[in-house]
Amino acid sequence: MADRYLRFTGTAPGRFLTRRLGLPQPAALVRWSPERPALDGGLRHLTAGTSALDLAPVLARTGLGPAGAERAAAVVLDATGVRDVEGLAGVHAALHPAVRSVVASGRVVVLGAPLDPADHHQAAAQQALEGFTRSLGKEIGRGRTVNLVRLTDAAAAQSTLRFLLSPKSAYVSGQVIEVGPLGGAPAAPDRNRPLDPDRPVDPDRPVDPDRPLAGRTALVTGGARGIGEAVAATLARDGAHVVVLDVPQAEQDARRVADRIGGTALPLDITAADAGARIAEALPDGLDVLIHNAGITRDRRLVNMPAERWAAVLEVNLASVLRTTDALLKAGTLRRGGSVVATASIAGLAGNAGQTNYGASKAGIVGLVRSLAPRALDEHGVTVNAVAPGFIETKMTAAIPLFIREAGRRMNSLAQGGLPADVAETTAWLAHPASGAVNGQVVRVCGQSLLGA
Ligand code: NAD
Repeated sequence: MADRYLRFTGTAPGRFLTRRLGLPQPAALVRWSPERPALDGGLRHLTAGTSALDLAPVLARTGLGPAGAERAAAVVLDATGVRDVEGLAGVHAALHPAVRSVVASGRVVVLGAPLDPADHHQAAAQQALEGFTRSLGKEIGRGRTVNLVRLTDAAAAQSTLRFLLSPKSAYVSGQVIEVGPLGGAPAAPDRNRPLDPDRPVDPDRPVDPDRPLAGRTALVTGGARGIGEAVAATLARDGAHVVVLDVPQAEQDARRVADRIGGTALPLDITAADAGARIAEALPDGLDVLIHNAGITRDRRLVNMPAERWAAVLEVNLASVLRTTDALLKAGTLRRGGSVVATASIAGLAGNAGQTNYGASKAGIVGLVRSLAPRALDEHGVTVNAVAPGFIETKMTAAIPLFIREAGRRMNSLAQGGLPADVAETTAWLAHPASGAVNGQVVRVCGQSLLGA
C-alpha cells in the first residue's frame, strides 16, 4: 500500500533525480492530526470587485491570523462582486502577486457568486472563475490546493471555509462547492438545536468545535474496514456514537472497529429487503448521520459481463442506498437536522473501462443526491450530499496491477493517492451540524484527478 515513489521524491537525491528526469514531484501533504490541527501560517484576504459579503468575522473563526507579506498558509479571494469580463482583471491583479507567497500544502480559496440567469455578463464572469480555479489547481504544485465556493451568505459558509482552510481538506482540490443561504434552508437553524427536545431551538448556540457531533448518532455502512473504518473513526472523534454496519461475515472486524471507537457493531447485509426496518429497529432513539459507504466492484468489460455481476454491483452500490434512505426517512428514524452522505466515485463521473456496472451505480448516486436533496431538506430537515473519491490507498486499490496503480496514483494535480482519512474528513464536514446550507453537493476527494475533470 505504501507509496514508495512519494517517499523517494521526499529525499534530496530523489528530488534531484526526478526533477532531472521531468517526473512528477508529489509533495508530502500536511494532514490533520491532534498535534497539527491547523495550517501553519496566516491568512490573506483579498477582494476583486466590490463585495457585499461580511467575511471578516467568518475568516476570524478559522483560527488563522493575518499573513505576513512574504508567507501565507492560505489566500481567500472574494470575487463575488465580479460581474463582467473587465472585473476578471481584478482576479488576476489580486492573485498574480499573491500565489508565490502561499506555502507548501497551503490553500487558495476563491469565493464566487451564483450565476445570474438574468445577466449573461455576470454569468460568464462567474463561470470563468471555475476554469480559473481548476487551471490554477493544476499548475500550483507543492501540495497546494485551489477550490471555488459559490455563496451568497458568508455565515452560511462558515463550516465549509473552516474545512477548506484546514489540513482536513488536504486531498480536495479543483472543486466547486455551492453553499445555499442559511435562511433559505429551513432546517439549518434546527441543526444547532439543543439536544433536549423540550428546550427551544437556539440558532446561535455554538457547537463544540472539537466535538461537533456530541450527542448524535451516526451509522456507517461498510464500516468494518477501508474508507468506512476511517469515516467511523473520524465521526467518533467528532463526538458521535457510531454504529458500524457491515456484512455478517465481517462481524469480527466491525466489532473491532466499534470497540476501538466506543461505538456499536451492526452485522447486516445492506441489500437485505428489510435492512431499513432492521436499522430503524436497532436505533429506536433515531439517527442523525447516515453514511452510505458500503460498495463493491465486479469488473468486466460489458461484452464479458454476466447479469449476476451487473446486478450485484447495482444492488449494493445503488439500490440498497435508495431503499434504506427511503425507509429511514419514511420511518422518521433520520432526525431533523441530520445528514445523509452517500459515496459516489470519479468512475461514476468520468467512466472507466471494465466498470460499466460500477460507473452506472456511482453515477446513480449523483442523480439520487441531486434529486432528493432539496426535498429531503424541505420535508425532513435533512441534507443529502455525496463524496466522490478518486484513487484512495486501500486494500481495494492495492490489488490493482502495479503499472495501472502507478498511473492511477499520479494522474492528479497532487501526483499521489489519497488516504481513507481524506474521504473521512470530507464526510465529517458534510455531516457537521453547521453544514446545513451545504446540500445536493457532490464533492470529489481526488487530488483533482485528470479523470472526468
Ligand atoms: P472496501 O472493499 O475496503 O470496503 C467496503 C466495505 O463494505 C467492506 O467492509 C465490505 O464488507 C462492506 N460491504 C460490501 N457489501 C456490503 C453489503 N452488502 N452490506 C454491508 N456491507 C457491505 O472498499 P473501500 O475502498 O473502503 O471503498 C469504500 C467506498 O468507497 C465504496 O463505496 C467504494 O466504491 C468507494 N470508492 C473507493 C475508492 C478507492 O479508491 N478505494 C474510489 C472511489 C470510490
